[in-house]
Amino acid sequence: MNACMAKNIIVAGGGAAGLMAAIAAAIAAADVGAPETITVLEKMERVGKKILATGNGRCNLSNWNACAGHTHYHGEAPEFAERALNAFNPEKTLAFFQRWGLMCKTEDDGRIYPMCNQASAVLDILRGALDHLGVHVRKADVSDISIQKKGFAVSIHGGERLACDKVIVATGGRAAPALGGSGGGYALMEKMGHSITPVYPALVQLRSDSPWMKRLKGIRARGGITLQSSGRVLIERVGELQFTGYGVSGIPALDASGFASNQKTCEALLDFAPDMTPEDLNQCLASRAKALSHVSMDRFFIGFFHRLMGEMFVKYAGVPLTLPAADLSSEQMSALVSAIKCFTVPIAGTNGFSEAQVTGGGVRVQEMNPSTMESKKQKGLYAAGELLDIYGDCGGYNLQWAWSSGYAAGVSAALD
Ligand SMILES: Cc1cc2nc3c(=O)[nH]c(=O)nc-3n(C[C@H](O)[C@H](O)[C@H](O)COP(=O)(O)OP(=O)(O)OC[C@H]3O[C@@H](n4cnc5c(N)ncnc54)[C@H](O)[C@@H]3O)c2cc1C
Repeated sequence: MNACMAKNIIVAGGGAAGLMAAIAAAIAAADVGAPETITVLEKMERVGKKILATGNGRCNLSNWNACAGHTHYHGEAPEFAERALNAFNPEKTLAFFQRWGLMCKTEDDGRIYPMCNQASAVLDILRGALDHLGVHVRKADVSDISIQKKGFAVSIHGGERLACDKVIVATGGRAAPALGGSGGGYALMEKMGHSITPVYPALVQLRSDSPWMKRLKGIRARGGITLQSSGRVLIERVGELQFTGYGVSGIPALDASGFASNQKTCEALLDFAPDMTPEDLNQCLASRAKALSHVSMDRFFIGFFHRLMGEMFVKYAGVPLTLPAADLSSEQMSALVSAIKCFTVPIAGTNGFSEAQVTGGGVRVQEMNPSTMESKKQKGLYAAGELLDIYGDCGGYNLQWAWSSGYAAGVSAALD
């Protein structure tokens, strides 16, 4: 990329992607000595409100596995994410944050958190960088972008129009409206000639009308979830399942939710013994039946599973609760194995955008340049973060996408 004399960059949206874009643009411009004015327009009182809520207030800001192909990312064309993720990968992201003072640590499954366990530290670090680099931050709700003879005019609610040479749209999606998610950026991009793939809530709780769900309310258990529709497997995940009464939450269910949002009907196959083969489980139940021949089936699973889950397996398998364990037939044993390993409940969709952590769908990525995040429709227009039709699994993948795509957009806007 060659340095040019871009004078004025506006970033619409002061979330993770927008703040990273503004900082990256300011650094890139300073490195080549190009004088630039960079302004972040944020409609909320403060920038980065969502960052404060991430990772239960601890901010799971990245994941070491974010660059493993695009396996952790979803959308119409998830491979689009690879180039930006590889260019500004977790290692570079951590080096960036460390440069501004944030120390990080790695937890299970490659999840990266600030060492101090405070999401506010991540935001403070970003705000400190913006200040230091002279980026302007302004409370303003962007209502329109229009193409001018030279550059763009960005209109904000209240009537003011701001001129700029480049504009980066990083207004996020529709998830978590209380934290700024309004989806208004889709109309801005549509007006610039872009198409939007259907949007849906993702990383959100699954809903089920099954009466079994009500019985499990409040229980957490390690388990596998396989979502399938018309016999076709949509996604499989293992981890801690949390039963909510109206359905299932927990990381495996959240990861599966984007696939449920897109289906008219689907079902979840729950595996409550994901670390045992059906044969191992059968053997285990057989020796248990021998050792516990004196108990009836209502007490058979105590000490193995949560008491309510144990009773549920017995009922689901059609075994009488009063049957002595000693009298279990091999057919009943097989029915119990299948109740434990393949407990099937219908899924009636997901919770909505208010509860969702991210938005699936968005600006069609085939219309964007994967290296620079520049629009292929309109030179000088860029988009980054959740606004694009890319979202990641739980575990730091979404913030990494916001940092990587924001970085690509910022550097390219400053230096193309
Ligand atoms: C509760 C919760 C927990 C999460 N935890 C994690 C986690 O631990 N790890 C992880 O990787 N991901 C997590 N995520 C997802 C992650 O936070 C988002 O994917 C990421 O913040 C998206 O960044 P963004 O900048 O694209 O969008 P956003 O963060 O949504 O930022 C967009 C910004 O643009 C502003 N805006 C919108 N429209 C306009 C407009 N017209 N004019 C001006 N400003 C506008 C909004 O107010 C907002 O501040 C979590 C999400 C939620 C809701």
